[in-house]
Amino acid sequence: MDQHIHCIVNDCHYWKNGNKCAANEILVATDSFGADNPEEIDAQMATQLTPQSAGNCMTTCCKTFVPKDSKYAGIDDVKKTQ
Ligand code: SF4
Repeated sequence: MDQHIHCIVNDCHYWKNGNKCAANEILVATDSFGADNPEEIDAQMATQLTPQSAGNCMTTCCKTFVPKDSKYAGIDDVKKTQ
């Protein structure tokens, strides 16, 4: 399946023109999971993580987000595709 992730968060390392995500994979999580876990915990570990309920879109986040020019870009082994 040809999948596209659209994203309007333009201060992310993986964001690109056209409001697209250029990460080869992402992890969407609850806000609390994002707050409680370090940058290294991300998409590559997804199959080992315990699913959680969020309730609504206000309590989910993109765990793969990392600010542009951050020293943490790539620490989670997520790659830019283009
Ligand atoms: S990693 Fe997440 S926040 Fe960053 S561009 Fe992709 S979807 Fe958006």
